[in-house]
Amino acid sequence: MLRIDGLSAWYGEAQALRDVSLHVDEGEIVTLVGRNGAGKTTLLRSLMGLHKGTSGTVQFLDEDISALSPHKRARRGLGYVPDDRGIFATLSVEENLTLPPVMGPQPWSLERVYETFPRLKERRRFPGTKLSGGEQQMLALARVLRTGARLLLCDEPTEGLSPLIVQQIGEILREVKAAGVTVLLIEQNVHFAATVADRHHLLAEGRIVESMDNDEVRARESELLQYLGI
Ligand code: ATP
Repeated sequence: MLRIDGLSAWYGEAQALRDVSLHVDEGEIVTLVGRNGAGKTTLLRSLMGLHKGTSGTVQFLDEDISALSPHKRARRGLGYVPDDRGIFATLSVEENLTLPPVMGPQPWSLERVYETFPRLKERRRFPGTKLSGGEQQMLALARVLRTGARLLLCDEPTEGLSPLIVQQIGEILREVKAAGVTVLLIEQNVHFAATVADRHHLLAEGRIVESMDNDEVRARESELLQYLGI
């Protein structure tokens, strides 16, 4: 579904990604793991077309989208969930869900969103500011699904959340996958990652240095956590 070949990215003279190549098949959940500053966020932003200083190619559904604007990438079915979640604080949950225009090829109805995220239905009249971190994360995910994304680019959805809420996010990701949505996920909690994802890539200094399956991540969990400084 997604194929990245030789992707490099710069901030001025400083190179943040170095010749990154990877693919994500339809229906998979694939994680990006790496220390702070390894280039994970830059990779997701580059895929969405939000980071301009890049070279290399990005193919989505057999189309070269490397030169397309973020808007056109969203129309093709890419959806970005930023780490700050991007919730409109003064708007209600329902307004947050319904305000962004449907762009992608498989939009979810509000009813379907509320079936998958019953907590958001309960809170639909609440302003964004009154939501817990976990609820905000659910809203950010739900909003991108509602706009029609087929491939979610999620920047560390579990960051700063309690173990119980992390578990809930895991259940949601599994439901999202079961609904036929593909996910490329930044995730530092490798224990959690091995329970929700299919494959994992470790980034260091802008390069993919290792690719692992769940068994390998489980076997090396403590070594990876130590390396990541968690
Ligand atoms: P984190 O988890 O801390 O966000 P990351 O793996 O997502 O880390 P990036 O945020 O992609 O890493 O950063 C990759 C490199 O690019 C780092 O060296 C960082 O300092 C640099 N960088 C990121 N954003 C900018 C920016 N706006 N201007 C200059 N350099 C930047």
